[in-house]
Amino acid sequence: MNNDFITEKNNSFFIEEVDIRILAEKYGTPLYIYSKQSIIHQISLLQEALSDINHLICFAVKSNSNLSILNLIKNAECGFDIVSGGELKRVIALGNYDGNVVFSGVGKSKDEIEYALEHNILAFNIESEPELMRLNSIAKKFAKKANISIRVNPNVDAKTHPYISTGLKDNKFGLDEKKAIELYSLAKTMDYINITGIDCHIGSQLTDLSPFQDTFIKLANMIDHLQTIGIELDHIDIGGGIGISYNDEKITPLNHYVSMIKKYLSKYNKKIILEPGRLIIGKAGILLTKVEYIKRSEHKNFIVVDAAMNDLMRPSLYGAHHNVINISNPKNGDEIFDIVGPICETGDFLAKDRQISASEDDLLAFMDAGAYGFSMSSNYNTRPKIAEILVDQTDFKLIRQRETFDDLIQHEIEFVNQKK
Ligand SMILES: *Cc1c(COP(=O)(O)O)cnc(C)c1O
Repeated sequence: MNNDFITEKNNSFFIEEVDIRILAEKYGTPLYIYSKQSIIHQISLLQEALSDINHLICFAVKSNSNLSILNLIKNAECGFDIVSGGELKRVIALGNYDGNVVFSGVGKSKDEIEYALEHNILAFNIESEPELMRLNSIAKKFAKKANISIRVNPNVDAKTHPYISTGLKDNKFGLDEKKAIELYSLAKTMDYINITGIDCHIGSQLTDLSPFQDTFIKLANMIDHLQTIGIELDHIDIGGGIGISYNDEKITPLNHYVSMIKKYLSKYNKKIILEPGRLIIGKAGILLTKVEYIKRSEHKNFIVVDAAMNDLMRPSLYGAHHNVINISNPKNGDEIFDIVGPICETGDFLAKDRQISASEDDLLAFMDAGAYGFSMSSNYNTRPKIAEILVDQTDFKLIRQRETFDDLIQHEIEFVNQKK
């Protein structure tokens, strides 16, 4: 899992076979650039590791929801994990809809439930009793049975950043084991509910496997218990969360994860559903930005770039680390800089305390920005969302246009109408 799709040849950096500078010239900066081969490679690694397990990979749409990316992932025989009606609309917009969708999230609205019911998804991942009640009554209206899994919160410490930890008992997600069993018993009595699975997702960017092991053991205990009360499942959804290396973190090999699935869960002969996001798309993308100013002071030096926290929120939100390469001048230098954007917030930084050498107009690449990069971006400070490019060997194409000022104001009715 390294970035070998980015290479340096004769002082130029290439993403696959395309010179990154050419993309900057053609499309401007800031820019998200993805490698198609990297995405395909990641999926096939996972598919191969899982080859003797009956499984379905449901890509977490929230990690990167660009339609061209989703299309590529769909063509690699994946389904999708969605967390909103909008994400389901994206999946349907791809065409050839096959219903390989699981719907996660604590706040599914009535409209979202109706929409997903109409489209016969694999499972609603139920996160509370009121949600189950609501689903049953909506399904009754449609005279349809709704497929469900119940999301178990196994109370394991995912040992990741608190904002991306979801499997502790004081997180808002899922139900503890006792409550989950009660809910299964209730679901079994409901006329418009069809129990198909069990679900969990304990957090994101897990680099150590032991929390998965604890979770799988708890899932297995629950499945045993469910069997004793006459509840049989079709699938076991083990969520996503496998981490990637952003800053030389040690990552446990995929095979160990798969061995654990085999050890604890294969004996049930159920389909294993996985919901990876970051693992598939994280390493495949970079954020390319241009240096605007070098600002030095006695205490601190700053590189001010044209990308900001609205384009890549992870450093501000989670204190996340992204490696940075100055592709115009890859020498490290001996000065230490914070790399910051133009937004009027102290939290607007992309990197802190980096030894790097840079001057005005240099191009910097923020690595491993494919997941939770563009999909978390906003228009804060009236900044148009940036363009996205997909590279495929020597080819590249624009997969999302840079927004314009008119895009930003188009919903501000009164003034837009006046203008017309
Ligand atoms: C975010 C999320 C995922 C994907 O997490 P990754 O860390 O990107 O693999 C999977 N399932 C659910 C329910 C999620 O909320």
